[in-house]
Amino acid sequence: MPYAHQFWCRPSDRQGVFLAPGAPRPAREPVTSYAPFENRTAFEFADLIVKKMQTSIGDINALLRTQAAYNATQGGGDVPFEDADELFETVDAIPYGDAPWESFTLQYTGPVDDNSPSWKRATYTVHSRNPRTVAHNMAKNEEFDGKFDTTPYQEYSAPGALQFSNVLSGLWAYMQASKIAADPATHGSMLMPIILGADKTTVSVGTGHTEFHPVYMSIGNVHNSVRRAHRDALIPIAFLAIPKASRGETETDEFRIFRKQLYHASLAQILSPLRPYMETYDVLQCPDGHFRRVIYELGPFIADYPEQVVLAGVVSGWCPKCLIPPEDMDRAGELRSHEHTAHVVDAFDVGTVWTMWGVDPNVIPFTTYFPRADIHELLTPDLLHQLIKGTFKDHLVDWVEQYLYLEHPKAEARRRMDDIDRRIAAAPQFPGLRRFPEGRNFKQWTGNDSKALMKVYLSAIEGHVPDEMVRCFAAYLDFCYLARRSAHDDKSLAAMQEALDRFHTHRVIFETVGVRPEGFSLPRQHALMHYIKGIRLFGSPNGICSSITESKHIRAVKRPWRASSKNNPLPQILRANQRLDKLNAARSCFTSRHMLDGDVLAAALNLPIQTADDEDNDEINEPEDEVADIEGVVEGIVELPKRPVYTRRVEDLAEEYNTPELQELVRRFLFDQLLATDEVDSSSVDLSRCPKFDGKIAVYRTAYATFYAPSELSGTGGMHREMIRANPSWRGHPRFDTVLLSADPDEPGMDGLAVAQVVGLMAVMYHGVRYPCALVKWYERVHDEDDNPTGMYVVQPECVDGERVTSIIHLDSVFRAVHLAAVYRDTEMPVEFHFSYTLDAFESFYVNKYGDYHLHEYIV
Ligand SMILES: [Zn+2]
Repeated sequence: MPYAHQFWCRPSDRQGVFLAPGAPRPAREPVTSYAPFENRTAFEFADLIVKKMQTSIGDINALLRTQAAYNATQGGGDVPFEDADELFETVDAIPYGDAPWESFTLQYTGPVDDNSPSWKRATYTVHSRNPRTVAHNMAKNEEFDGKFDTTPYQEYSAPGALQFSNVLSGLWAYMQASKIAADPATHGSMLMPIILGADKTTVSVGTGHTEFHPVYMSIGNVHNSVRRAHRDALIPIAFLAIPKASRGETETDEFRIFRKQLYHASLAQILSPLRPYMETYDVLQCPDGHFRRVIYELGPFIADYPEQVVLAGVVSGWCPKCLIPPEDMDRAGELRSHEHTAHVVDAFDVGTVWTMWGVDPNVIPFTTYFPRADIHELLTPDLLHQLIKGTFKDHLVDWVEQYLYLEHPKAEARRRMDDIDRRIAAAPQFPGLRRFPEGRNFKQWTGNDSKALMKVYLSAIEGHVPDEMVRCFAAYLDFCYLARRSAHDDKSLAAMQEALDRFHTHRVIFETVGVRPEGFSLPRQHALMHYIKGIRLFGSPNGICSSITESKHIRAVKRPWRASSKNNPLPQILRANQRLDKLNAARSCFTSRHMLDGDVLAAALNLPIQTADDEDNDEINEPEDEVADIEGVVEGIVELPKRPVYTRRVEDLAEEYNTPELQELVRRFLFDQLLATDEVDSSSVDLSRCPKFDGKIAVYRTAYATFYAPSELSGTGGMHREMIRANPSWRGHPRFDTVLLSADPDEPGMDGLAVAQVVGLMAVMYHGVRYPCALVKWYERVHDEDDNPTGMYVVQPECVDGERVTSIIHLDSVFRAVHLAAVYRDTEMPVEFHFSYTLDAFESFYVNKYGDYHLHEYIV
């Protein structure tokens, strides 16, 4: 049970007068209709068309006319809306989630005359919403109830082991809230950290590109899982102006300085409505219905390195968080602060502060306008740009290629690169694993592609590069997978430090072989040294990472832009965001009042509420859809779908499975279920003592494993579900997934686990009881220790007298899917090789702990 600092924040009435302890929540404002929508169907229609499909006006009109025409032929009946205009008017009239867009202009304030460059004469328009209104809207979202912290808290993973997960579990929130609590004027108020993220994004049509510079806002009180999963917990609050200069002007110092000053002035102006309430309290309603006094505080700022440089007012190439000079970046330096910057700017000339401390004295960070805020502290670890796209893809993967071309003649290097690609393409199937069928040589390389490559890269390079490079990748991947966890404690942070030290030791190989003769003074790699402190301050980086803002670009910018007329698109994008936010707020309101329960058609026909059926699982084609988030907290479980594919007599199935001893295996399985004791199980008992069975067996192609894995894509309760397949022809090829089984619950990590391949999923009926089970082929550990450079356990097919050891096990003993990566080492992959053969073609496999974050946590 987390220990919350209750005395720091107390419920109040609407005016901010504290309530007596234990006062009940105020009654919810009743919502009895779907107004402004006529009924649920009209709301769902608008939600689908405007939010999900983002249909153009012409298509909406065509759809509604077609529906009207159809109704006319069927003897009448209304359509939900007359036309697109009526639909949008109704959406605009939604009373929830309103935060209108406003705009202000800024311009160059120095001397200007007719000969001045155009950028000095231009006015720059910034579109923004009142962040205080946005904070109020977010705070009163009833769907966040139970996932919203009103006070900083301390949580322990074990006695004495402090745990860091959500923003309010971090030390920064504790320190800031202490300041609020210490001041009699603000004592008893809730700390609300305003999380910001800014990131330019480009949309392209034909040969033209348009840039947008949105600023997103969230609040630190909502849990990380909500911020990652829920659309209402992060919304755009501004679109910054992007000044353009004529060709000769873009590189001048004057223009560069102006651009930075405009950026900071804009941010200060956008956030100014919050400024008074950073020192005297505001009152807002929280998801639990209670009103509370609140003090806003600038919180973690999410940005990639180029944006961090501008934000922190440092010289490019320098660290925005510490004072280490660029040539010395393989260690961390003394931390920066506004105070230090002000001191050196005061005491030294421009040239000195620029070269000695990497400070750009022309830039005054926007945070200096707000109390208690320091941008150097607030810049957070950024998994996407620093770990995934930066160090992994842009550095390490690239360096491997450079190494091969340095080490070998061009043709040989290319041959090896191709072999690495073929090895990657040969990775066996695994739920959620993105495939690289054509190797990695495609143009648009996304963060998700890099994440997918991380899962399969290590074993693919082994043998082509020195073992020391493999060790370097293993150390680096360990650091990344640890950093990605949703909760940290002293143990995991110590493991991160160990992995980072190991990475620093092993990366020297790239210097030794001549790929990086200049060493490793790289800002994005240097940033890793600030992670552990950052996690202690702000909780898990996965709740405040730019992958959240980047995926927001799609909904907030890219799709609205596509639906726009492209002529002056920004006002159209703003309007689209306004509508999305209102629809989301309406959905939250209706959902929390159970007004959207069950299926829309069933509700309209007054049918009983049914949950979605999982029967058509073989229709799922995208690997991403094989894994899903599950709401609510349930026990870990592996289940079969409701209906089997077919049922077979046991002797027919023996033929189909090419397992002549199937009947014997079923009988031994039944012995284990019914008669086994601690001393006797089916492996030692004579077959004649096993129950007789010649009935029918139900056959399945899929099983669902549900387990607790908050670091993965998961529901807000942390539950994750994946599909395990045993299918002789899935998308034209056999697919028999490998799984982890619990072998000895008393043993930790891999020592308590076994690995097997599922060759059949079945349900056996015996005396009226249904036994869900799997026909599996076993693997065995090759060594007890993981002494190879990958640091992964090695397994091989378990055989007796040359035959694979096969048995039937209850599905209860299956834990989840596991990825096996072939041990390639010196094997050269044939050109035409399909990944569905990999598990049969190789002698040994790595138990791939990099298959996903949960496996990495589990396989130790
Ligand atoms: Zn630094």
